[in-house]
Amino acid sequence: MPLIVQKYGGTSVASLEHIRRVAERVAKTYDQGNDVIVVLSAMAGVTDGLINMARKITETPEKQELDVLLATGEQTTAALLAMTLKAMNYPAKSLLGFQAEVLTDRAFGNARIMDIGASRIKDLVARRTIVVVAGFQGADADGNITTLGRGGSDTSAVAIAFAVKADMCEIYTDVDGIYTADPGICKKARKLYTVSYDEMLETASLGAKVLQIRSVEFAKKYNVPVHVRSSFSEEEGTMLVNEATNMEQPVVMGVTCNKNEARITLKNVPDQPGIASKIFSPVAEAGIVVDMIIQNTRSEGLTDLTFTVPKISFKDAMEIEKKVAAEIKAEDVFGDENIAKISVTGVGMKSHSGVAATMFSTLAAVNINILMISTSEIRISCVVEENYAELAVRVLHTAFGLDKEEHAPV
Ligand code: ADP
Ligand code: ASP
Ligand code: MG
Repeated sequence: MPLIVQKYGGTSVASLEHIRRVAERVAKTYDQGNDVIVVLSAMAGVTDGLINMARKITETPEKQELDVLLATGEQTTAALLAMTLKAMNYPAKSLLGFQAEVLTDRAFGNARIMDIGASRIKDLVARRTIVVVAGFQGADADGNITTLGRGGSDTSAVAIAFAVKADMCEIYTDVDGIYTADPGICKKARKLYTVSYDEMLETASLGAKVLQIRSVEFAKKYNVPVHVRSSFSEEEGTMLVNEATNMEQPVVMGVTCNKNEARITLKNVPDQPGIASKIFSPVAEAGIVVDMIIQNTRSEGLTDLTFTVPKISFKDAMEIEKKVAAEIKAEDVFGDENIAKISVTGVGMKSHSGVAATMFSTLAAVNINILMISTSEIRISCVVEENYAELAVRVLHTAFGLDKEEHAPV
């Protein structure tokens, strides 16, 4: 019998009425002769609400206790869906992360899945029970509850699909697939019916939250079939594939926008060996991931160094760099949280020149100043002022020929 994992995001389980509709979809899949495992997120807004509540107690809640709190969001929806299915006379059972044997490391708030035993899930499935697993959570080797980072229930679903060798992992969300740009920002975005794992990896790492990046890493590594689709329609969504099958591979596959980074500049740093290490080692030791780095050489042995960090680590990184600046005798440190990183991606870029030039001239034509640039084989990113982020996405989307065709009015 085919085995299907269905993951429903926060907007899909936002109320009891939404949960009832999810139950109907699950029941239909089951009645069609499939075994079904459901992985759930918390109701939309609940995780944010819990974080805000904790912050009212202290600005920096202890990460381990915060995970105990955040895991309740998914505990709630898992129980409610199992109850709804049972009320509809379907055999169902909810499982929390630890009951589903989701073993993680000890990185509270951003834990990585190490292993999934899944024996209990498999036993239940063998008895034709619909298993409802609370996503986003697991437990470390000592049994402490952990969570997998924001958007982590995507990763729960893909990892469970791999552990049980599911035939398909369906990610149900509030859009009907992966688009050439965030459809919430760019009305002319087009739906893509297939996206390669590599392109999705870039897209997710560049800010498209439609799939958590770790879920894509996992899917690529273990070849898990993933179908991203809408819980509000029957439309076919987007399949992740090994290589895009389109005969005519477009050079640019999509435009993404990431507003989750901030930049820090150290001004007039002495240009000497070992300075970069003094600036970046303490940041790395604090577990802060640096993304883009640029260094401008000035005259008289001085240089400016600018880099970006996740916004959530901005305050900590600023504190660290103020100390470093005093130590290495840099003139000043300043930060800017109002930036956005705009990127164009596509495996087709490997064999094409001129993509960067088009990107820069398109932004210049609408007077958008580029603050930082970085490139890889299949991506070009520019940091711009946050206010211009949406405009930048839209003009680039048009410039690279991604806009959907306008239908003539009938
Ligand atoms: P869920 O709660 O179901 O996990 P998310 O809000 O995490 O849903 O992810 C879905 C959202 O991702 C969409 O509403 C959309 O605004 C956003 N998104 C960003 N980039 C893209 C893209 N390229 N294609 C589709 N959706 C995107
Ligand atoms: N509820 C968690 C979050 O909001 C996990 C998820 O939705 O995937 O980040
Ligand atoms: Mg999500």
